[in-house]
Amino acid sequence: MRITALAGGVGGARFLRGLLRHLEARTDGPHSLTVIGNTGDDITLFGLRVCPDLDTLVYTLGGGVHEAQGWGRADETHTVQGELKAYGASPQWFGLGDRDFGTHIVRSQWLAQGQTLSQVTARLAQRWGLPEQGVTVLPMTDTPVETHVVLEEDGEQRAVHFQEWWVRLQAAVPAQRFVVAGLDQASAAPGVLDALRTADVILLPPSNPVVSIGIILGVPGVRDALRGTAAPVVGVSPLVGGAPVRGHADACLSAIGVESSASGVAGLYADFLDGWLVDDADAESMRAAAASKSPTVRSMPLLMRDIDHAARIAGGALDLALDLRDA
Ligand code: GDP
Ligand code: CA
Repeated sequence: MRITALAGGVGGARFLRGLLRHLEARTDGPHSLTVIGNTGDDITLFGLRVCPDLDTLVYTLGGGVHEAQGWGRADETHTVQGELKAYGASPQWFGLGDRDFGTHIVRSQWLAQGQTLSQVTARLAQRWGLPEQGVTVLPMTDTPVETHVVLEEDGEQRAVHFQEWWVRLQAAVPAQRFVVAGLDQASAAPGVLDALRTADVILLPPSNPVVSIGIILGVPGVRDALRGTAAPVVGVSPLVGGAPVRGHADACLSAIGVESSASGVAGLYADFLDGWLVDDADAESMRAAAASKSPTVRSMPLLMRDIDHAARIAGGALDLALDLRDA
């Protein structure tokens, strides 16, 4: 079975790690997983190209992630950051550990040598044993793009990089809108549209619907490929009881005028979504909101407390997709 998923960082990576655990236990293999990762969070810091969501995916699926944090490297130290601080180098608000720096240095070197982000990401994933697991991580595009957030303060509008809003400002200043610099000129990275067209199943993990999945959907051709694909498309809600489990998805939804609810999020995917897995706590509100062109809804506990929980959720999403395919 060829599975393709769209993913941001922590929520997406934890779900997909559960999916791999679930697939190990299935007897209908072999299976392959292609992950299309969000690059809107990418940022250049200290001259280095940093790709937070791609790295979270690779570290998590490769077994190198800082488990409690959900991003960055396990057993991390911060000597380099301390040195940068001593020199007064900025920014100081973005945490980069020493092991993590290694990734950004080698990526920046390979990019400077003329390799594409796809090629670089494949090389990074190789070190973490992803090909052996049947996993391919593709950046959504090889064109550098950056999500910016338009803020209004004292009647004046200004745009900041998404990371500055998310990390430094903790999304506490209301976003007016999101602008993805470079996205209209970007094209999908090699393999991205094919992975959507030829998949047996397409999954949307519980990633941020606006600044992770929403950005990938803005890559020219991606949305059309999802509308046109023969594969069932099943999404997993990032909300439990109408609230994000972590992060500020509610602040992102309100910026684009969408209610923070399972049905509000499903509405963003209405033109291509076949199945929608929601938390038990949201099942009732989902039923109440059901419209004519609604996806098939199932509910189960959606809190990914550990890998086993994530595996059960991934199994639920996959079962829903297979039922829709066979229906
Ligand atoms: P980011 O790029 O690191 O912010 O990660 P993603 O975009 O992939 O995922 C962020 C989303 O994951 C947030 O909106 C969270 O609500 C969601 N999320 C995190 N943990 C869980 C969980 O245990 N269950 C569910 N259903 N969603 C989760
Ligand atoms: Ca992210």
